[in-house]
Amino acid sequence: MRIWVNGGLRDADDARLSVFDHGLTVGDGIFETVRVAGGHPFALTRHLVRLTRSARGLGLADPDHDEVRHAVETVIEANPMELGRLRITCTGGLSPLGSDRGDAAPSLIVALGEAARRPDSTAVVTVPWTRNERGAVTGLKTTSYAENVVALARAHERGASEAIFPNTVGQLCEGTGSNVFVVLDGRIHTPPVTSGCLAGITRALVVEWTGAQETDLPLDVLERADEIFLTSTLRDIQAVHRVDGRELPGAPGPVTVKAMRVFDERAADDLDP
Ligand code: PLP
Repeated sequence: MRIWVNGGLRDADDARLSVFDHGLTVGDGIFETVRVAGGHPFALTRHLVRLTRSARGLGLADPDHDEVRHAVETVIEANPMELGRLRITCTGGLSPLGSDRGDAAPSLIVALGEAARRPDSTAVVTVPWTRNERGAVTGLKTTSYAENVVALARAHERGASEAIFPNTVGQLCEGTGSNVFVVLDGRIHTPPVTSGCLAGITRALVVEWTGAQETDLPLDVLERADEIFLTSTLRDIQAVHRVDGRELPGAPGPVTVKAMRVFDERAADDLDP
């Protein structure tokens, strides 16, 4: 595999970052995961805009979009595959132990791996921990994902593929790597970003393309919603057929199926919506 590291393409085995990179020592980094199908990155402009928002939130230098686009194109060309997950990472860069980042040059890493098509539906669990809707890094796509790793392990122990967090006031928030939608009386709802969830790119497209409402929802809406689905870059839309002990037979239900169809059609029409 050939990856982009700080200005050039390298074999993954020869790629180097300092062990004192702040991304490693304190988790000071940001990232984007972009779906690449047939050699084309999907929604790259939106991903770059969010990357810049995350950089500013963390006080990292603004990523140079021309440089990142060039790195993305170069990596895609060097690693042909049908369906891939492209990862853009910017880290705080090399800083001596115990010091703050100062004016260290950030690192840029772009890598591409094979992605598998996700099943149409999946099982999820809720977790007893909370997302902080008012934290310093709330809404930023940072590399500090340890909380998600722990929650996802809990989901896997219970035979589920995703864990759903409430926020600190008991509202539905998001999954470890996905946004959550529910269908109530035929209408689609998803928590607003003020719930503490990431402003998912797939979420935004589903809201725009289906007219889904952004609504504060209690966590227990999952016990009564007619349909539930997840969205993310690698899932697009994925129905939920079990949440904790509750089965949702027939998932994906009719409203979810319609949303999937609209999403597929619009996404095929425009690769950079
Ligand atoms: N929420 C979190 C915490 C995520 O990490 C992700 C994506 O990885 C999402 C939501 C979904 O966002 P997107 O649709 O941009 O992939």
